[in-house]
Amino acid sequence: MSANLLDRLLRGALPDPDGPGALSVATRRVVIEAGLIDAADTLVAGLDLGARVAVVTDRTLRSVAGARVAQALRRAGDVIETIIDEAAPHADDRTVEFVRQASAAASGLIAVGAGTLNDLCKYAAHLDGKPYAVFGTAPSMNGYVSPNASITVSGHKKTLAATAPRGAFLDLDVLAQAPVRMIRAGLGDSLCRPTAQADWLMSHLLLGRPYREAPFMLLREDEPALFAQAGKLVAGDRAAIAVLARTLVLSGFGTAICGGSYPASQAEHLISHYVDMRGGDLPETFHGEQIGVTTLAVVRLQHALLAQDALRPLSATLSQDDLAARLGPELASACWPEFSRKEAARADYGAWPEIRRRIAAIAQPVEILSRALEQAGAPRSHRELGWPDALYRAALRNARLIRDRYTCLDLAADVGLLDAFDPS
Ligand SMILES: [Zn+2]
Repeated sequence: MSANLLDRLLRGALPDPDGPGALSVATRRVVIEAGLIDAADTLVAGLDLGARVAVVTDRTLRSVAGARVAQALRRAGDVIETIIDEAAPHADDRTVEFVRQASAAASGLIAVGAGTLNDLCKYAAHLDGKPYAVFGTAPSMNGYVSPNASITVSGHKKTLAATAPRGAFLDLDVLAQAPVRMIRAGLGDSLCRPTAQADWLMSHLLLGRPYREAPFMLLREDEPALFAQAGKLVAGDRAAIAVLARTLVLSGFGTAICGGSYPASQAEHLISHYVDMRGGDLPETFHGEQIGVTTLAVVRLQHALLAQDALRPLSATLSQDDLAARLGPELASACWPEFSRKEAARADYGAWPEIRRRIAAIAQPVEILSRALEQAGAPRSHRELGWPDALYRAALRNARLIRDRYTCLDLAADVGLLDAFDPS
């Protein structure tokens, strides 16, 4: 059923639930099936990538899939194999320049990899005005088809405009063999649909911010099976992996359609970003592993808010000095312009009974989300991620200070529920 929905989206035949006309995306072809790698030449035919494509991969992923993609493409034309000679490259400005130089003679780029390779290629393609396509190697994140890239520039992680892929090909044989933590990460990043939708809808109803149904309509059909059958993901079940892969692709299209990460990144992502910024020397974890854990905390906080019959806002607001006391002077002055805009927004608390009813209708019980992570063997507590208690407490309390996005963390702070909140 949802395969059909994806198909209709790509054909421009899916009505927009938020207004007139049909939804449209820049990507022309998405295929999620077994056995795609050796058919790369026929899959990219018609995508107008030009006569000489660069197949961009790294040392590890070349042996997983990159070499076979290049071999198949040679049947159709010239191929430049661009191998980042590292086992685990980073999506940073230095590596972007390497990809651009190594692929300078190519007419189009084809990434073979997951988040890092995809970000590098879509950003390099954007800078050089070239088309690109991607063969995904892990169902680990929702960025395969999104039109932006997460790149570290001069040591700072940034979200930058990039080229959307003309084609995205997710070979289930390859995806099922991905490292199990990457599969769990894809589940974790998909878990935040209920929390992100609740936060976004709440900011719409409380503050009049724009909101769209379309991204959630795209995810609705697959979500029950994804959450209920999470254990099958790590058992290599191709059908379960296909549901996850489709969810990640449709989530990426949702952000593309909205022109921003709103439907897939709210309070649970702010907490994770806070830890990335302030955590220091922590064990390596995947983004999606973090989001699984932070989503459980946020869904508990949202249910604590939904339990309130009426909201009584505190009158206290934070000053720049308060921010400096919590974040240090440097980060506080960087965050103050965005945060002060949020503080200035006054919410319509009188509408709470109606808001509460609407949010309750899209929420998920914490048990369903927690069980999905448990079945997949994914982390469910900050301690499993190696995050100290004090850091996590500070992240829950202060993550709302780093961006202007108004989430349940702000609402909970405004009504005095945040400081005493216990996520366990
Ligand atoms: Zn995410």
